Amino acid sequence: MTTDIEELTEFHWMMDMLQNIDVGLVVVNPKIEVKLWNSFMENHSGLLASNTRNKDLFSLFPEIPVEWFKHKAESVFQLRTRAFSIWEQRPYVFKFKNYRPITGAAEYMYQNISLLPLTSTTGEVSHICIIVYDVTDIAMSRLKLEGANKQLEYLSRTDKLTSLNNRGYWQECQEREFSRYKRHENPTSLVIFDIDHFKSVNDTYGHQAGDEVIRTCARTLTACAREIDICGRYGGEEFVVILPDTDAKGGYIFAERLRKLVEKLTVNHEDFSIQFTISLGVCELTPSVASAKSWLELADQALYHSKENGRNRSSVQKPE
Ligand code: GH3
Ligand code: MG
Ligand code: MG
Repeated sequence: MTTDIEELTEFHWMMDMLQNIDVGLVVVNPKIEVKLWNSFMENHSGLLASNTRNKDLFSLFPEIPVEWFKHKAESVFQLRTRAFSIWEQRPYVFKFKNYRPITGAAEYMYQNISLLPLTSTTGEVSHICIIVYDVTDIAMSRLKLEGANKQLEYLSRTDKLTSLNNRGYWQECQEREFSRYKRHENPTSLVIFDIDHFKSVNDTYGHQAGDEVIRTCARTLTACAREIDICGRYGGEEFVVILPDTDAKGGYIFAERLRKLVEKLTVNHEDFSIQFTISLGVCELTPSVASAKSWLELADQALYHSKENGRNRSSVQKPE
Protein backbone atom coordinates (compact mmCIF):
# COMPACT_ATOMS: atom_id res chain seq x y z
CA MET A 1 0.00 0.00 0.00
CA THR A 2 1.27 3.44 -0.81
CA THR A 3 1.23 6.04 1.89
CA ASP A 4 0.09 9.62 1.48
CA ILE A 5 3.72 10.72 1.72
CA GLU A 6 4.71 8.38 -1.09
CA GLU A 7 1.84 9.63 -3.20
CA LEU A 8 2.85 13.21 -2.59
CA THR A 9 6.44 12.41 -3.51
CA GLU A 10 5.31 10.75 -6.70
CA PHE A 11 3.18 13.76 -7.47
CA HIS A 12 6.24 15.99 -7.09
CA TRP A 13 8.23 13.73 -9.37
CA MET A 14 5.46 13.94 -11.93
CA MET A 15 5.44 17.70 -11.73
CA ASP A 16 9.23 17.80 -12.11
CA MET A 17 9.11 15.53 -15.14
CA LEU A 18 6.25 17.47 -16.66
CA GLN A 19 8.25 20.66 -16.26
CA ASN A 20 11.47 19.27 -17.65
CA ILE A 21 10.24 17.03 -20.43
CA ASP A 22 11.38 18.12 -23.89
CA VAL A 23 7.89 18.51 -25.30
CA GLY A 24 5.42 21.32 -24.87
CA LEU A 25 2.43 20.69 -22.61
CA VAL A 26 -0.54 23.04 -22.44
CA VAL A 27 -3.89 22.40 -20.80
CA VAL A 28 -6.91 24.40 -21.92
CA ASN A 29 -10.57 24.44 -20.90
CA PRO A 30 -13.53 24.40 -23.34
CA LYS A 31 -13.19 28.15 -23.79
CA ILE A 32 -9.60 27.49 -24.87
CA GLU A 33 -8.20 29.35 -21.87
CA VAL A 34 -4.80 28.23 -20.63
CA LYS A 35 -4.70 26.27 -17.39
CA LEU A 36 -1.25 24.76 -17.57
CA TRP A 37 1.91 25.86 -19.40
CA ASN A 38 5.13 23.88 -18.89
CA SER A 39 8.77 25.04 -19.06
CA PHE A 40 9.19 23.94 -22.68
CA MET A 41 6.41 26.37 -23.58
CA GLU A 42 7.92 29.06 -21.35
CA ASN A 43 11.35 28.65 -22.90
CA HIS A 44 10.21 28.76 -26.49
CA SER A 45 7.50 31.40 -26.23
CA GLY A 46 9.19 33.67 -23.70
CA LEU A 47 5.88 33.72 -21.79
CA LEU A 48 5.91 32.67 -18.15
CA ALA A 49 3.20 30.27 -17.01
CA SER A 50 1.91 32.98 -14.68
CA ASN A 51 1.39 35.29 -17.66
CA THR A 52 -0.63 32.73 -19.58
CA ARG A 53 -2.89 31.37 -16.86
CA ASN A 54 -6.59 31.82 -17.68
CA LYS A 55 -5.70 33.75 -20.83
CA ASP A 56 -7.38 33.02 -24.13
CA LEU A 57 -4.90 30.97 -26.22
CA PHE A 58 -5.73 32.87 -29.41
CA SER A 59 -4.98 36.23 -27.84
CA LEU A 60 -1.57 34.89 -26.79
CA PHE A 61 -0.93 33.38 -30.26
CA PRO A 62 -2.86 35.33 -32.88
CA GLU A 63 -1.27 33.21 -35.64
CA ILE A 64 -3.27 30.11 -34.59
CA PRO A 65 -6.22 29.82 -37.01
CA VAL A 66 -9.19 30.06 -34.62
CA GLU A 67 -11.76 28.11 -36.63
CA TRP A 68 -9.35 25.34 -37.51
CA PHE A 69 -8.22 24.90 -33.91
CA LYS A 70 -11.71 25.11 -32.41
CA HIS A 71 -12.95 22.49 -34.84
CA LYS A 72 -10.20 20.10 -33.75
CA ALA A 73 -10.71 20.87 -30.05
CA GLU A 74 -14.46 20.33 -30.34
CA SER A 75 -14.00 16.83 -31.70
CA VAL A 76 -11.73 16.03 -28.74
CA PHE A 77 -14.26 17.34 -26.24
CA GLN A 78 -17.24 15.66 -27.85
CA LEU A 79 -15.87 12.42 -29.24
CA ARG A 80 -13.26 11.95 -26.48
CA THR A 81 -10.69 10.96 -29.04
CA ARG A 82 -7.31 12.40 -29.84
CA ALA A 83 -6.73 14.87 -32.66
CA PHE A 84 -3.48 15.65 -34.44
CA SER A 85 -1.75 18.22 -36.54
CA ILE A 86 1.32 17.25 -38.53
CA TRP A 87 4.07 19.48 -39.85
CA GLU A 88 3.58 18.34 -43.46
CA GLN A 89 0.13 19.93 -43.41
CA ARG A 90 0.76 22.82 -41.04
CA PRO A 91 4.45 23.50 -40.27
CA TYR A 92 3.67 24.90 -36.83
CA VAL A 93 0.79 25.80 -34.53
CA PHE A 94 2.85 27.90 -32.11
CA LYS A 95 5.16 30.27 -33.95
CA PHE A 96 8.45 29.63 -32.11
CA LYS A 97 11.67 30.96 -33.57
CA ASN A 98 14.18 28.20 -34.27
CA TYR A 99 17.55 28.86 -32.64
CA ARG A 100 19.14 25.45 -33.11
CA PRO A 101 22.37 25.81 -35.07
CA ILE A 102 22.20 22.35 -36.63
CA THR A 103 18.84 23.12 -38.19
CA GLY A 104 19.79 26.73 -38.80
CA ALA A 105 18.01 26.74 -42.15
CA ALA A 106 14.58 26.63 -40.50
CA GLU A 107 13.23 29.96 -39.35
CA TYR A 108 10.53 28.46 -37.13
CA MET A 109 10.22 25.29 -35.11
CA TYR A 110 8.37 22.60 -37.09
CA GLN A 111 5.78 20.94 -34.85
CA ASN A 112 3.60 17.90 -34.59
CA ILE A 113 0.73 18.47 -32.21
CA SER A 114 -1.53 16.06 -30.36
CA LEU A 115 -4.74 17.09 -28.61
CA LEU A 116 -5.58 14.75 -25.77
CA PRO A 117 -8.90 14.55 -23.87
CA LEU A 118 -8.47 14.96 -20.09
CA THR A 119 -11.19 13.36 -18.01
CA SER A 120 -12.31 14.90 -14.74
CA THR A 121 -13.15 12.92 -11.58
CA THR A 122 -16.79 12.97 -12.66
CA GLY A 123 -15.91 11.30 -15.96
CA GLU A 124 -16.43 14.16 -18.35
CA VAL A 125 -13.87 15.66 -20.64
CA SER A 126 -13.39 19.01 -18.98
CA HIS A 127 -10.02 19.97 -20.45
CA ILE A 128 -7.71 19.05 -23.24
CA CYS A 129 -3.97 18.73 -23.22
CA ILE A 130 -2.02 20.07 -26.19
CA ILE A 131 1.25 18.22 -26.68
CA VAL A 132 3.80 20.01 -28.85
CA TYR A 133 6.62 17.98 -30.42
CA ASP A 134 9.61 19.76 -31.92
CA VAL A 135 10.16 17.96 -35.24
CA THR A 136 12.43 20.57 -36.83
CA ASP A 137 15.31 18.12 -37.34
CA ILE A 138 13.10 15.54 -39.04
CA ALA A 139 11.36 18.15 -41.17
CA MET A 140 14.61 19.76 -42.26
CA SER A 141 16.27 16.50 -43.24
CA ARG A 142 13.14 15.44 -45.12
CA LEU A 143 12.96 18.77 -46.94
CA LYS A 144 16.68 18.64 -47.72
CA LEU A 145 16.31 15.13 -49.12
CA GLU A 146 13.35 16.19 -51.24
CA GLY A 147 15.36 19.16 -52.51
CA ALA A 148 18.32 16.92 -53.34
CA ASN A 149 16.07 14.45 -55.16
CA LYS A 150 14.53 17.22 -57.22
CA GLN A 151 18.00 18.51 -58.08
CA LEU A 152 19.14 15.01 -59.07
CA GLU A 153 16.06 14.53 -61.22
CA TYR A 154 16.73 17.87 -62.90
CA LEU A 155 20.37 16.95 -63.54
CA SER A 156 19.43 13.55 -64.95
CA ARG A 157 17.25 15.11 -67.64
CA THR A 158 19.30 18.21 -68.43
CA ASP A 159 22.18 18.75 -70.82
CA LYS A 160 25.10 20.25 -68.91
CA LEU A 161 26.44 22.55 -71.63
CA THR A 162 23.15 24.15 -72.68
CA SER A 163 20.67 23.39 -69.85
CA LEU A 164 18.27 22.13 -72.53
CA ASN A 165 16.59 18.74 -72.16
CA ASN A 166 19.14 16.04 -72.87
CA ARG A 167 18.62 13.42 -75.52
CA GLY A 168 17.20 10.74 -73.22
CA TYR A 169 14.65 12.95 -71.57
CA TRP A 170 13.69 14.66 -74.82
CA GLN A 171 13.01 11.25 -76.37
CA GLU A 172 10.71 10.44 -73.45
CA CYS A 173 8.86 13.68 -74.11
CA GLN A 174 8.69 12.90 -77.80
CA GLU A 175 7.13 9.48 -77.08
CA ARG A 176 4.59 11.23 -74.87
CA GLU A 177 3.72 13.76 -77.55
CA PHE A 178 3.47 10.98 -80.14
CA SER A 179 0.97 9.09 -77.93
CA ARG A 180 -0.97 12.28 -77.30
CA TYR A 181 -1.21 12.78 -81.07
CA LYS A 182 -2.54 9.24 -81.51
CA ARG A 183 -5.38 10.12 -79.12
CA HIS A 184 -6.32 13.62 -80.28
CA GLU A 185 -4.63 14.14 -83.67
CA ASN A 186 -3.85 17.73 -82.76
CA PRO A 187 -1.43 19.18 -85.31
CA THR A 188 2.08 18.60 -83.95
CA SER A 189 5.37 19.33 -85.67
CA LEU A 190 8.97 18.48 -85.04
CA VAL A 191 11.96 20.55 -86.05
CA ILE A 192 15.53 19.24 -86.06
CA PHE A 193 18.53 21.39 -86.90
CA ASP A 194 22.28 21.13 -87.09
CA ILE A 195 24.98 23.82 -87.15
CA ASP A 196 26.58 24.18 -90.58
CA HIS A 197 30.29 23.41 -90.97
CA PHE A 198 30.68 23.20 -87.24
CA LYS A 199 33.90 21.23 -87.54
CA SER A 200 35.55 24.26 -89.05
CA VAL A 201 34.35 26.43 -86.10
CA ASN A 202 36.16 24.05 -83.78
CA ASP A 203 39.20 23.80 -86.06
CA THR A 204 39.50 27.55 -86.61
CA TYR A 205 38.61 28.99 -83.21
CA GLY A 206 39.07 26.06 -80.84
CA HIS A 207 36.75 23.75 -78.92
CA GLN A 208 35.90 26.40 -76.29
CA ALA A 209 34.67 28.72 -79.01
CA GLY A 210 32.67 25.80 -80.43
CA ASP A 211 31.06 25.30 -77.02
CA GLU A 212 30.15 28.97 -76.88
CA VAL A 213 28.51 28.71 -80.31
CA ILE A 214 26.47 25.69 -79.12
CA ARG A 215 25.38 27.59 -75.99
CA THR A 216 24.38 30.62 -78.04
CA CYS A 217 22.42 28.43 -80.39
CA ALA A 218 20.56 26.86 -77.45
CA ARG A 219 19.74 30.28 -75.95
CA THR A 220 18.37 31.46 -79.30
CA LEU A 221 16.24 28.35 -79.61
CA THR A 222 14.82 28.85 -76.10
CA ALA A 223 14.08 32.49 -76.84
CA CYS A 224 12.26 31.53 -80.06
CA ALA A 225 10.21 28.74 -78.51
CA ARG A 226 6.94 29.05 -76.63
CA GLU A 227 6.39 27.73 -73.11
CA ILE A 228 4.76 24.54 -74.46
CA ASP A 229 7.46 23.74 -77.03
CA ILE A 230 9.86 20.99 -75.99
CA CYS A 231 13.45 21.81 -76.86
CA GLY A 232 16.38 19.44 -76.56
CA ARG A 233 20.01 18.96 -77.46
CA TYR A 234 19.99 15.77 -79.47
CA GLY A 235 23.71 15.42 -80.11
CA GLY A 236 26.88 17.49 -80.40
CA GLU A 237 25.56 20.41 -82.45
CA GLU A 238 22.16 18.96 -83.26
CA PHE A 239 19.00 20.31 -81.69
CA VAL A 240 15.36 19.27 -81.71
CA VAL A 241 12.09 20.89 -80.79
CA ILE A 242 8.53 19.60 -80.67
CA LEU A 243 5.90 22.20 -81.51
CA PRO A 244 2.46 21.22 -80.20
CA ASP A 245 -0.59 22.77 -81.89
CA THR A 246 1.53 23.53 -84.95
CA ASP A 247 1.08 22.26 -88.51
CA ALA A 248 3.82 21.96 -91.15
CA LYS A 249 3.27 25.52 -92.29
CA GLY A 250 3.64 26.85 -88.74
CA GLY A 251 6.65 24.61 -88.25
CA TYR A 252 8.29 26.03 -91.34
CA ILE A 253 7.62 29.61 -90.18
CA PHE A 254 9.20 28.77 -86.82
CA ALA A 255 12.21 27.19 -88.53
CA GLU A 256 12.76 30.17 -90.82
CA ARG A 257 12.45 32.66 -87.96
CA LEU A 258 15.04 30.75 -85.97
CA ARG A 259 17.33 30.38 -88.99
CA LYS A 260 17.25 34.12 -89.73
CA LEU A 261 17.92 34.98 -86.10
CA VAL A 262 20.93 32.67 -85.95
CA GLU A 263 22.29 34.01 -89.22
CA LYS A 264 22.45 37.51 -87.72
CA LEU A 265 24.21 36.44 -84.52
CA THR A 266 27.83 37.11 -83.70
CA VAL A 267 29.53 35.10 -80.98
CA ASN A 268 32.46 36.95 -79.45
CA HIS A 269 35.04 34.59 -78.09
CA GLU A 270 38.43 35.90 -77.01
CA ASP A 271 39.47 38.07 -79.97
CA PHE A 272 37.23 36.32 -82.48
CA SER A 273 33.84 37.31 -83.83
CA ILE A 274 32.19 34.14 -85.00
CA GLN A 275 29.19 33.92 -87.30
CA PHE A 276 27.45 30.71 -88.18
CA THR A 277 24.32 29.28 -89.77
CA ILE A 278 22.02 26.30 -89.24
CA SER A 279 20.12 23.92 -91.49
CA LEU A 280 16.69 22.74 -90.45
CA GLY A 281 14.19 19.98 -91.14
CA VAL A 282 10.47 20.10 -90.32
CA CYS A 283 7.93 17.27 -90.16
CA GLU A 284 4.30 17.46 -89.16
CA LEU A 285 2.98 14.26 -87.67
CA THR A 286 0.27 12.40 -89.60
CA PRO A 287 -1.66 9.22 -88.70
CA SER A 288 0.48 7.27 -91.17
CA VAL A 289 3.66 7.77 -89.11
CA ALA A 290 4.18 4.51 -87.26
CA SER A 291 6.43 5.57 -84.38
CA ALA A 292 8.12 8.48 -82.66
CA LYS A 293 11.36 7.19 -84.15
CA SER A 294 10.08 7.36 -87.75
CA TRP A 295 8.74 10.84 -87.07
CA LEU A 296 12.23 11.97 -86.10
CA GLU A 297 13.73 10.16 -89.11
CA LEU A 298 11.36 12.05 -91.43
CA ALA A 299 12.41 15.38 -89.94
CA ASP A 300 16.03 14.26 -90.27
CA GLN A 301 15.47 13.54 -93.97
CA ALA A 302 14.24 17.13 -94.36
CA LEU A 303 17.37 18.34 -92.56
CA TYR A 304 19.52 16.27 -94.92
CA HIS A 305 17.68 17.86 -97.82
CA SER A 306 18.55 21.34 -96.46
CA LYS A 307 22.21 20.32 -96.17
CA GLU A 308 22.26 18.93 -99.69
CA ASN A 309 20.69 22.03 -101.12
CA GLY A 310 23.22 24.52 -99.89
CA ARG A 311 22.72 24.70 -96.07
CA ASN A 312 21.34 27.70 -94.12
CA ARG A 313 17.83 26.74 -95.13
CA SER A 314 14.69 24.94 -93.91
CA SER A 315 12.90 22.03 -95.59
CA VAL A 316 9.65 20.26 -94.85
CA GLN A 317 9.19 16.52 -95.16
CA LYS A 318 5.66 15.20 -95.77
CA PRO A 319 4.99 11.66 -94.57
CA GLU A 320 3.61 9.30 -97.24
P1 GH3 B 1 27.62 19.93 -91.53
O1 GH3 B 1 27.38 21.28 -92.09
O2 GH3 B 1 27.49 18.87 -92.57
O3 GH3 B 1 26.77 19.64 -90.36
O4 GH3 B 1 29.14 19.89 -91.11
P2 GH3 B 1 29.74 19.79 -89.68
O5 GH3 B 1 31.14 20.24 -89.74
O6 GH3 B 1 28.89 20.48 -88.72
O7 GH3 B 1 29.71 18.23 -89.50
P3 GH3 B 1 29.39 17.32 -88.29
O8 GH3 B 1 27.96 17.47 -87.90
O9 GH3 B 1 29.82 15.94 -88.68
O10 GH3 B 1 30.36 17.83 -87.16
C1 GH3 B 1 30.01 17.89 -85.86
C2 GH3 B 1 31.21 18.27 -85.05
O11 GH3 B 1 30.80 18.78 -83.79
C3 GH3 B 1 32.12 17.11 -84.75
C4 GH3 B 1 32.43 17.23 -83.28
O12 GH3 B 1 33.81 17.29 -83.04
C5 GH3 B 1 31.82 18.51 -82.86
N1 GH3 B 1 31.23 18.48 -81.55
C6 GH3 B 1 30.34 17.56 -81.10
N2 GH3 B 1 29.99 17.88 -79.83
C7 GH3 B 1 30.66 18.99 -79.49
C8 GH3 B 1 30.70 19.81 -78.29
O13 GH3 B 1 30.04 19.55 -77.29
N3 GH3 B 1 31.52 20.90 -78.32
C9 GH3 B 1 32.26 21.24 -79.40
N4 GH3 B 1 33.01 22.32 -79.33
N5 GH3 B 1 32.25 20.47 -80.51
C10 GH3 B 1 31.46 19.38 -80.56
MG1 MG C 1 26.89 20.17 -88.39
MG1 MG D 1 26.03 17.13 -86.79
